[in-house]
Amino acid sequence: MTAADAYAELIRRSKELGVLNSCAAVLSWDQHTYMPARGAGLRGEQMAFLASLSHQKFTDPKIGELLAAVEGSDLVKEPDADASANVRELRRAYDRATKIPASLVDELARVTTAAQQAWEQAKKANQFATFRPHLERIVELKRQEADAVGFKDHRYNALIEEYEPGTTVVELKELFAGLTKRLVPLIQKVADSPKKPDRTILERDFPVERQKIFAESAAVALGFNFAAGRLDTTSHPFCSGFGPGDCRITTRYNPRFFPEAFFGVMHETGHALYEQNLPAEHFGTPLGVACSFGIHESQSRLWENQVGRSRPFWDHFFPRLRQTFPALADVSLEAFYFAVNDVKPSLIRVEADEATYNLHIALRFELELALLSGDLAVVDLPGAWNERFAALFGLAVPDDARGCLQDIHWSFGGLGYFPTYTLGNLYAAQFMVAVKSDLGAESLTEDMRRGDFGRLKDWLVNNIHRNGQRYRAGELCRRATGNPLSPESFLLYLNEKNSELRGVC
Ligand code: ZN
Repeated sequence: MTAADAYAELIRRSKELGVLNSCAAVLSWDQHTYMPARGAGLRGEQMAFLASLSHQKFTDPKIGELLAAVEGSDLVKEPDADASANVRELRRAYDRATKIPASLVDELARVTTAAQQAWEQAKKANQFATFRPHLERIVELKRQEADAVGFKDHRYNALIEEYEPGTTVVELKELFAGLTKRLVPLIQKVADSPKKPDRTILERDFPVERQKIFAESAAVALGFNFAAGRLDTTSHPFCSGFGPGDCRITTRYNPRFFPEAFFGVMHETGHALYEQNLPAEHFGTPLGVACSFGIHESQSRLWENQVGRSRPFWDHFFPRLRQTFPALADVSLEAFYFAVNDVKPSLIRVEADEATYNLHIALRFELELALLSGDLAVVDLPGAWNERFAALFGLAVPDDARGCLQDIHWSFGGLGYFPTYTLGNLYAAQFMVAVKSDLGAESLTEDMRRGDFGRLKDWLVNNIHRNGQRYRAGELCRRATGNPLSPESFLLYLNEKNSELRGVC
């Protein structure tokens, strides 16, 4: 078999797996939106069947043979060639999938299914003790997973690899140290500033039907294609791109709090624009898949925060908002803009503003590292959490439900996931600086004031979306912005916004 034949067969199999996995995505979306309660049993069987079929097909030794036949051939001589990127990423995923023993995969699935239920109950009852043995087992299994996959320097590197290939503990430590050192005093200055927004204007009557229509109109303005997607309601919002022509987003509505659904839709629309603009011809291969979790998150944060909490955005949308919601009749654009940009240390990550949010992640990253290295025993987690939280936020954690039990991630074994949220924030700010420099800051502002986001979207499509996994995140960032990732753009952005709003910087 020639290298070209091997590559063709590899791509055929990869695309077949793409179709198979998209079937699971449809079922999962349905499970979280419209499936009746009694469908859960059958759905569990359907999902397990598809997952095992997919794993079996992907770990077929034939895939390893095909990869070996292409590697070292002329097809992958140019690092930027289609085949090079596809082979590089298929190799990474194949090695990971085949190095982890089936018994460990089974054990992890069993343990995390039970752990998620235990976590839900422990959180409800505010009782860390009942979740503790589950988390101990998960940390132990994740260590085994890291050992099976192999790593340099730190086990955590093997776990990040699943979400942010190419990123390392050393890089993340440096990034978080630089960020935290400057965020903490900034947040303190904001807290000390006498200028405070009136948050209650966001807690008025916002009828759900009107929220839905308003949010949909904003999603359309951003470029979400409703002929190739839907917006539905769920308790935990998400975006799921099935593949070309079909991307689903969800949100949840609070009739007495405007930001929840609106900024949630902005966020998921950012994810969806990425999915809707991946190159369709590469569907099912790495070139048709988003670069990394961090880059995916950069797209949602860019539209949610950099655009959705900007002044020119609301110059355009606020008059329409006030027309839609009579409850805002006496509210000025200035007051509204200030309210949606409030910065205030709080206990819950998912409710945090864009500045304090990253301290929540810094805390989790530190603790995950300590858990994995054995420096921190699970039994000591609540104490370590509360102590570190007080140091970073100046707040006392009243209970574990609002402390170390608040997030679902550890219960599903997602150690290594959290840093991608902050990477997303940093990438988003750095991309926005590059967009402004390429398109002109003033003319971009004028675009937004008119409600025209086309040129911004096109920049993202050309520089980010259409590349799929052609480059790793670090390289993609260098190509799109001219620089490696750093916290500078994000910190500058926060400083500028807070000096504009409160004279603090
Ligand atoms: Zn997101």
